[in-house]
Amino acid sequence: MKTTDNKKDTTVKTAAKKGATPSKSNAASGLTELFEDALKDIYWAEKALTKALPTMAKNATSPELIDAINNHLVETEEHITRLEQVFKLIDKKATAKKCDAMEGLIEEGKSILEETEIGVVRDAGIIAASQKIEHYEIATYGTLRQFAETLGFEEAAALLELTLDEEKDADRKLTEVAVNAVNLEAAEAD
Ligand code: FE
Ligand code: ZN
Ligand code: FE
Repeated sequence: MKTTDNKKDTTVKTAAKKGATPSKSNAASGLTELFEDALKDIYWAEKALTKALPTMAKNATSPELIDAINNHLVETEEHITRLEQVFKLIDKKATAKKCDAMEGLIEEGKSILEETEIGVVRDAGIIAASQKIEHYEIATYGTLRQFAETLGFEEAAALLELTLDEEKDADRKLTEVAVNAVNLEAAEAD
């Protein structure tokens, strides 16, 4: 397939090269590489979230929702610190690599803010966007913890599990706020 997108071309070539000579030892170093790449990706994502969450909080009206977002902002700072500890444990420098998925999810959140008036409907939209973000993080940390375990990084696996649990709690909390405080009112406002 011919494409004028140079960036895409490079990505495909690199992936093909890496997958060209599969062997047992390559598979092991391949998993380590995958683990490191995923760490860099979520490190970028968590940092991006510390900038996006205050915007979400500023646009929310439900006190329960504002609380939930602000609490999770504090946790998110801690997630960044934990990731730095994980990098240290595997003897790597903490590096961020742009996460296209998180960038897109944050963009979606921003368009919801543009498309709604401040109030319960926007609150419902903020919850929806935030839960997509939490689910992405839950998937990521679940994978990272499993990779760490498989690779024998037990301490790192334990740290990643702590964050995984907080992401799950944040998601549950958002559901609670939606069910108890926001969605019913938003439906009534229609
Ligand atoms: Fe997080
Ligand atoms: Zn990503
Ligand atoms: Fe989160």
